[in-house]
Amino acid sequence: MEEYKYKSGYDLIDSYVIPKNTEEWLNCPRCGLKPKVWEFDNGSSTGCGCHNSKYDHLSIHAECIGSVLRRTGGFAEFNDNELRDNWNHWVVTGEELFLHAGLRKDNKY
Ligand SMILES: [Zn+2]
Repeated sequence: MEEYKYKSGYDLIDSYVIPKNTEEWLNCPRCGLKPKVWEFDNGSSTGCGCHNSKYDHLSIHAECIGSVLRRTGGFAEFNDNELRDNWNHWVVTGEELFLHAGLRKDNKY
């Protein structure tokens, strides 16, 4: 299992921004930082201080609205705060609620 190094500070592409209601986001159990977030077309992800490089870092993901639509046929299940909830759940339990398709590293701590 490959592990992310613990570097101090963020090293993220510019798309990552400090989320609204920062106080609702728990600090990363590994690097101690609050995550920045990137919302893109088909999902969203977090970035904190756990990284090997700008393009290779720990991320918690959330499902995009289009994927919720395809899966459930409606918007009822879409949760605006899903990424924050997934992040906080991971911080507390070490489990990821939503696993991004494709190659990913083990984010257990
Ligand atoms: Zn971290």
